[in-house]
Amino acid sequence: MSNRIKVVVVGAAGRMGKTICQAVLDDDGGGLDLVGAVDTADVGGKVPGSELSLEDSLEKVIEETIPDVLVDFTNADAVVKNADLASAAGVDAVIGTTGIPAGDLDRLKGYTEQRKSNILYAPNFAIGAVVMMNICRNIASVFDRAEIIELHHDQKIDAPSGTAVMTAEIIGDNLKPDPLEEVEKYKGARGARVKGIPVHSVRLPGLVAHQEVIFGLIGQTLTIRHDSIDRSSFMPGIILAVKAIGSRAGFSYGLESFLGLSKVTT
Ligand code: NAD
Repeated sequence: MSNRIKVVVVGAAGRMGKTICQAVLDDDGGGLDLVGAVDTADVGGKVPGSELSLEDSLEKVIEETIPDVLVDFTNADAVVKNADLASAAGVDAVIGTTGIPAGDLDRLKGYTEQRKSNILYAPNFAIGAVVMMNICRNIASVFDRAEIIELHHDQKIDAPSGTAVMTAEIIGDNLKPDPLEEVEKYKGARGARVKGIPVHSVRLPGLVAHQEVIFGLIGQTLTIRHDSIDRSSFMPGIILAVKAIGSRAGFSYGLESFLGLSKVTT
């Protein structure tokens, strides 16, 4: 029996999907085979560097290629249906699509409980961003307040970013800021509150994916910043996840535990 891992990428014509297809093809020597590329756009177009064409039916691609892992970078409306199809066929899923509502995350968890397939949902596959979230947990336990500024390219649909939400959840579990007496003269000036932590979203051309977490304590601040300056930053984490998901039973939230860092609880 071959121990190579057969991979299907969904959202393969998108900005992330194209880079992921290339990263999987480049990992040929590492044991990955790109067997399918699915998208609702550019159907019939070739995946650069391969003989594969973009298909629009995930169901058909799963049936024909019997993959081990599905990688989903589509959008919040498409992701649950894709994960349902994968998990019903016993295919593990690595999901990077963000903006997934909490109820839909519960449905993904449910699939892994009812069926024999594993799912990882990680809002950020950049290793530096995962480390940033991990160290925020410790910092939060000794600081009084924290605010998050996330900055992304202007094509990003969802706000705040999945990374900001996950970071706020981690901080909010460890730091409960007292309410401030403040007047918001313009609605939104103080950002959105996620677990009580203010989150400010910036969208500009020229940006990729960036986040600053500013902690405050009397007489001092501590700022942690992570920058993804190119989509290649996400590839090592995605390839690691594709190779590891087969041995990660059930539903995983975030890449922390895959890197040997302590696990995030939801
Ligand atoms: P994009 O718009 O460039 O690509 C999305 C692709 O999905 C498009 O080609 C679109 O046609 C396709 N698509 C939409 N619905 C589909 C469906 N039902 N079936 C198949 N394909 C479908 O977006 P992007 O910049 O590549 O980002 C994709 C997602 O990944 C977003 O949610 C983004 O926030 C997220 N993202 C996550 C990380 C991470 O590390 N987790 C990093 C970057 C981006």
